[in-house]
Amino acid sequence: MLPDLHRPCPLCGNREPEVLAQLSLPQPSHSPLPPGYRLVACTDCDLAYADTPASQADYDRYYQHLAKYGGPTGTGAGQDAADMRRLEQLADRLEAGLPGKDAAILDIGCGAGGLLQVLGARGYTQAEGLDPDPAAVAAARAHGLAVRAGLASESPGLYAGIRFDLIVLSHVAEHLRDLDWLPRLSTLLAPGGRLYIEVPDPRGYRCDPRPPYYYFDSEHINHFSPHALGRLFASAGLAPEAFPDCTLTLSDGSTYPAFAGIASMGSTACPAPAAAIPQLRSYLNNCAARAHQAIQIHPPLAEDTPLLVWGAGSWAQRLLGQNAIPLARVAAFLDGAPNKQGQTFAGKPIVAPADGLSRHPNAQVLVCVAVNPHQIGAEIARLEPGHARSLHFITEPT
Ligand SMILES: [Zn+2]
Repeated sequence: MLPDLHRPCPLCGNREPEVLAQLSLPQPSHSPLPPGYRLVACTDCDLAYADTPASQADYDRYYQHLAKYGGPTGTGAGQDAADMRRLEQLADRLEAGLPGKDAAILDIGCGAGGLLQVLGARGYTQAEGLDPDPAAVAAARAHGLAVRAGLASESPGLYAGIRFDLIVLSHVAEHLRDLDWLPRLSTLLAPGGRLYIEVPDPRGYRCDPRPPYYYFDSEHINHFSPHALGRLFASAGLAPEAFPDCTLTLSDGSTYPAFAGIASMGSTACPAPAAAIPQLRSYLNNCAARAHQAIQIHPPLAEDTPLLVWGAGSWAQRLLGQNAIPLARVAAFLDGAPNKQGQTFAGKPIVAPADGLSRHPNAQVLVCVAVNPHQIGAEIARLEPGHARSLHFITEPT
């Protein structure tokens, strides 16, 4: 048995996973999540996952109150053109397997209801959702959507007696510590009903253009392969029909690898593609090689000027873990998410961007935002028109 293992394989219970990497991810002060974890792999299940010491209850608390999916900076609800395109493509894939516009659809982890809105606009009258975050639920209901507040793991009980033609978990399963309740979703499927699970695709993880270890953060604690999803489906008595590629295009035009597993009862299982763990090992080797190179900041920071760090999210966590941010000079972290403001991060306050900028008029700003960092310049110009602010960006060594 692996010494000090916190989390046996969530699919098969294997207590001897292979250790792939040790990750350091310092957390904001109110976070119930651990400041790092071992990334391990069950080669039998072809599943990589975080050996997280936190419990499912810790993750539940985080997604109820501290995550980014419900508030004004929420993601995944069609907040920009790229996310709208993602939702339309998702709806296209789902629609192909639906019996009609009155199909009963359940979106588990629906956030502020982006997918439900798109389905509603296409004429689907029986689509509903479930999300743990009260802010996301309120935002969805404000749009007239049928959304309940509750944990994903509560869905088999909450919807007992109802039969759905389609149950969707889109970018949800990689966030779940405990997977033992997922097989019970098959009790909620109508005859011919389908389960659709979309997740990041570890076969597509690349160091370019993302920082090393980009795909491993506090939230993504499972890295499913088609084989791993196939095991999950089998434990629910379902057979996978297809594993379509679902690569996302982000707002800066870069791509994010993702795929889906679509399963139903009694269909003939399609064969799972080749194993993902070998590709993940070579990605991690590449990350380790790059992480050894010094991180470059352009233009270089002035030595004697205080520093504001824009972003207290996953990338800032990873950079702090690598000691890449000159913490002694940091006056504050700026973050637009109200549920992060008022906490501390590595001992420094997290404040609203407008607050931090006005309190530190001479500070230089280090942008720690992995997607579209240069749009922060426009945001700062809007917050303090006419003020010349020294902006600095992190660039990967080439
Ligand atoms: Zn396993």
